[in-house]
Amino acid sequence: MKIICIGRNYVEHIRELNSAMPTAPVFFLKPDTALLTRNRPFFYPSFTKEIHHEVELVLKVCKVGKAVQKKFAHTYFEEIGLGFDLTARDLQDDAKKKGLPWALSKGFDNAAPVSRFVPKSKFPDLKNISFHLDLNGKTLQTGNSSLMLYPFDEIITYISQFMTLRTGDLIFTGTPAGVGPVKIGDVLEGYLEGEKMLTTRIK
Ligand code: MG
Repeated sequence: MKIICIGRNYVEHIRELNSAMPTAPVFFLKPDTALLTRNRPFFYPSFTKEIHHEVELVLKVCKVGKAVQKKFAHTYFEEIGLGFDLTARDLQDDAKKKGLPWALSKGFDNAAPVSRFVPKSKFPDLKNISFHLDLNGKTLQTGNSSLMLYPFDEIITYISQFMTLRTGDLIFTGTPAGVGPVKIGDVLEGYLEGEKMLTTRIK
């Protein structure tokens, strides 16, 4: 499986990082070795001094899709979860300056904690899903799918032009504003529609 991540999908987050407004979805990959499940702890790696949290809605792809038409895009995911797109911001800033890829800063081991998944039928409106992230009990990021520049269907249509989607692939759909650093001892908690879905202890 692959993990596809959308960058720059919430205006306030684009502003906080002084990034350019995209004219098409920006996406990058994390390898399957980045996946961290079952609320296992995250061990702070030695190659960075600045890991940031980014809470995101995550789609689980349910069938093979290539060049998916927008009107059918919604049939390519049945479940939604929550993920933390952990980012080595110092490495990413350096890569951005040099015009280099983000593989190191985004794709390191365990850089993708992911929650359990819930059927999308549980959500009355996919265009109005709220989520938030608490750091040590304090809410630092709040988001809602209504604020996405590129909603779920457009993301699936766009990505599948270039890369075949396969069953089990995960799509991180971008983070809202409020990203920031974590340190050893911190506890990250992700909530979907007010329900706690994901806990990651930084060790
Ligand atoms: Mg992200």
